[in-house]
Amino acid sequence: MIHFNKPYLTGKEAHYMYQAVYSGKISGNGIFTQKCQNYFQERYGFKKCLLTTSCTDALEMCAILCNIQPGDEVIVPSYTFVSSALAFVRQGAKIIFVDSMKQHPCMDADIVESLITPRTKVIVAVHYAGVACDMDKITDIANRHHLLVVEDAAQAVDSFYKGRALGSIGHLAAFSFHETKNIISGEGGMLVVNDDRFVKRAEIIWEKGTNRAEFFRGEVNKYGWVDTGSSFLPTEIVSGFLWAQIENLDAIQERRKQLWNTYYETLKPYADKGWFKIPTVPDYATNNAHMFYLVCNTFEERTNLIAALRDGGFLAVFHYLSLHKSPYYQDKHDGRMLPVSDLYSDCLIRLPMFYELTFDNISDIAAIIKKYYEYDGH
Ligand SMILES: *Cc1c(COP(=O)(O)O)cnc(C)c1O
Repeated sequence: MIHFNKPYLTGKEAHYMYQAVYSGKISGNGIFTQKCQNYFQERYGFKKCLLTTSCTDALEMCAILCNIQPGDEVIVPSYTFVSSALAFVRQGAKIIFVDSMKQHPCMDADIVESLITPRTKVIVAVHYAGVACDMDKITDIANRHHLLVVEDAAQAVDSFYKGRALGSIGHLAAFSFHETKNIISGEGGMLVVNDDRFVKRAEIIWEKGTNRAEFFRGEVNKYGWVDTGSSFLPTEIVSGFLWAQIENLDAIQERRKQLWNTYYETLKPYADKGWFKIPTVPDYATNNAHMFYLVCNTFEERTNLIAALRDGGFLAVFHYLSLHKSPYYQDKHDGRMLPVSDLYSDCLIRLPMFYELTFDNISDIAAIIKKYYEYDGH
């Protein structure tokens, strides 16, 4: 059985973890943590990076840094992972869900302005499949209404909007290194701070509300409890794992793009027949090959296609049940219909996508899809 994801190991992970274990400093904010953070800062122009134990944690830090108070409103797409909303809900926010675009699951920036009220504080731009939201539109709206922009860049490592790295555009951004993402550390994430105003406080929140990071740099002669916070930093063992992945980022990205392009070329003729839709990448965005998905015409069609692929030895999956309809949030939602989000919830299917997938696998998957639509589906 070929799963939809297989975590890829570059070979150096255990080596660096061993180094971390015997370095004499295993807790967080050591040499590997700093190597990883510096890499991202230098390569992508992020102002300040802090590794976290997950993207969810990084988003929670964002919610604290945005100073979310009970009743504040945060605009979030409904078609996203729970954490994009949950992190803000934990601080008391009311989530105002926004629908997706018809041509792409990212949020429809043209609707955002109509959702703004005097209580709105933050827009969370989720770069679905590593493909950018329309950040000029979102930034412009945010500036005119004095809102903060948080990029949920969980899937968006090494991807760009009009030449600018995703994660460098919002006031704050959050990345994930969960084992399903392009580069991984099992569980892991990173907060990016692009606005100077938040840099110092971010470090304090990261270190349990203390100014320990300053103390370690010798900037203060004692440290103590100065703010709210939590233990958001990963151990050096995890950062060592991540460093091995970072060293291979270019090779990983190149391979994933080859696989993605092969899917695209192979399946495009079928999409042209109207059997299903394949991903589109707007002119302003790049594709980091995080995900290859199809959008089926109906829910039943998707269910049957997943079954056909499973019979052929491939586990394709669907994801994201519209958050505005979730058991946890449906009673708190303001009742607006979000039909495009629901469409992706019902009809989107993710095909296997990982470094060690082969071109033969893709041919086999395409053959199953072709047979399904030619004989069974229609
Ligand atoms: C994976 C993902 C997250 C959560 O990442 P974790 O590191 O597992 O906390 C958040 N948002 C999006 C869009 C994701 O894809």
